[in-house]
Amino acid sequence: MPSHKVFYFSHAPQNVYDIIREEVPPGFELVTLAEDSDDERKVKLADCEVVIVAARPMTREFVDAAPQLQLLHHQGVGYQDTVDVAALKARNIALALTPAGTSIGVAEHTVLLTLAACKRLPYADSELRRGRWHINSLRPYSFELFGRTVGYIGMGRIGQATAARFRAFGTLGVYFDPHVQLPAAREKELGVSRVEFDRLLAAADIITLHVPSDATTYHMIDEAALKRMKPNAIVINTSRGSVIDESALCRALKQGRLAGAGLDVFETEPFRSDNPLAAMPNVVLTPHIAAGTRDALKAKMQDLFQNVRRFFNGEALENQVML
Ligand code: NAD
Repeated sequence: MPSHKVFYFSHAPQNVYDIIREEVPPGFELVTLAEDSDDERKVKLADCEVVIVAARPMTREFVDAAPQLQLLHHQGVGYQDTVDVAALKARNIALALTPAGTSIGVAEHTVLLTLAACKRLPYADSELRRGRWHINSLRPYSFELFGRTVGYIGMGRIGQATAARFRAFGTLGVYFDPHVQLPAAREKELGVSRVEFDRLLAAADIITLHVPSDATTYHMIDEAALKRMKPNAIVINTSRGSVIDESALCRALKQGRLAGAGLDVFETEPFRSDNPLAAMPNVVLTPHIAAGTRDALKAKMQDLFQNVRRFFNGEALENQVML
């Protein structure tokens, strides 16, 4: 029986492809890129029935280059800015997401960025490597999490997974999510209460973003929102770069209106070294790797290929986005 061709749309090193290949079940052939080349993408799309999308956007041009495409499976969950939904809908191509392996990685990364921003970890580390021993000079800028209020913007899968982890640090929690009101027992378990947006900005010492990229979240953290935050607030973004007005954030950080920021996502990716954030000692920067662990990739691929199997067996897809 001929195998179904599944194309991994992002370019990755061979040892990443090896991890993915270990999870490919019989009856499927994984197609990968030798180079990060759009010409090669188009050639390989020509006979693929399934495409796995990660950070590299699947635009209409690529959907058009894939006449056999039946299923587009996102490796994560943030499809709004990586998938041309209208192009899929026009051809009746199914779209499914992979929450498995995403929430834990991003929640852990949020805690990592927060602790690192509270202690200016990258600065302390890079200074130490140059022989500069800041045993006392960092003290006025270092904070503990205990007793501080964390403001969660977005209380879906990742917001809740993050709140569950912060609970262990003895933080208090408030959240803003127009579409989610957690049951009282769940709020108690996570140590959070629901508030309006302005109240969250005024109350939180740490503001962490867990919303999708869409029209309602575009520049949600703008100049006005930054001005309403506490003077020593820390902003953490592991959601999407579009949620923060990065120029306004830079100004607030430069003027010392915020204590710091921890950012995994940016308005322009890949991040360029001439981005003004790169020169700031009070920020922690990572290259969109919040869900990028080996563990997460294995978990994602196991779930994803089970779903692909379901699809070809004529069963209902899990985590399908209804277009
Ligand atoms: P989710 O759908 O479970 O939760 C998102 C929540 O945001 C929902 O509860 C929704 O009601 C809420 N929301 C929507 N619009 C809002 C608004 N205007 N104000 C406040 N809340 C709003 O999604 P999730 O699995 O928790 O993922 C959240 C986001 O994290 C994804 O959309 C994706 O962009 C991002 N993400 C980033 C990485 C990374 O590597 N950095 C990895 C995975 C996901």
